[in-house]
Amino acid sequence: MEVDYSLFRTIHRLLRQLKDLNEQLEKGPRQVTIAERAEQAFVQDLETVKAERLRSKMAADDKQLQLSEREARIEDLKAKRNSAGSNREYQLLSDQIQADQQANAVLSDEILELLDKVDQLDVAVADSESNLEKARQETRKVAERIQAEMDNLQSESERVRQELKENESHLPADIKSEYQRVVQTRGEETFAETDLNTCGRCFTLIAPQTQSELLMKKSVLCKSCGSILYIKENTALPS
Ligand SMILES: [Zn+2]
Repeated sequence: MEVDYSLFRTIHRLLRQLKDLNEQLEKGPRQVTIAERAEQAFVQDLETVKAERLRSKMAADDKQLQLSEREARIEDLKAKRNSAGSNREYQLLSDQIQADQQANAVLSDEILELLDKVDQLDVAVADSESNLEKARQETRKVAERIQAEMDNLQSESERVRQELKENESHLPADIKSEYQRVVQTRGEETFAETDLNTCGRCFTLIAPQTQSELLMKKSVLCKSCGSILYIKENTALPS
């Protein structure tokens, strides 16, 4: 019984289209994941810079407290010095006051440095927040674009599936059951076109026996890869 190779060709084309559409449908969500990961990196950046700002601020507050305590102590020492009983005691207290004053000068410098750093980190936090906001907008944009693409691909896929079903219904009964079994696992690899010389899928040479069967429009499988063969369009047929 002769088979209609143009039907095989059409079904093969539709199976390839479906495969292509499925690949694109799989790629879509991955693009969203990439955008989400980029956004997550900005969240991380912001947390890092905020934590550093907090550490610097706490260190500044800590030193500020030490400074106040030491200033209070200096006042105490000054009061004691006013009621010193001897020159020696007066001198000792004066030395102590001077040492504390020097230490406080160093501490003040450190506090100023830290507050300066906090100011810089405020700017860094603001930058980081705006970067994160941009990344969030980007993720939203990507997700919206991908969703629209996915919707189109879904309806395209549905259309191809319908067309495929329609064409499959024209397959001769003896081929149909074998086809339906194979197509489940092989998809578009169910078919291979041939120019009568080699198999279009595995490039194995077509044996003369298979060539004659093809010319008689029989349903034949490639001996090597098992694909259902059909003659490629515009193949010069031997006269
Ligand atoms: Zn083959």
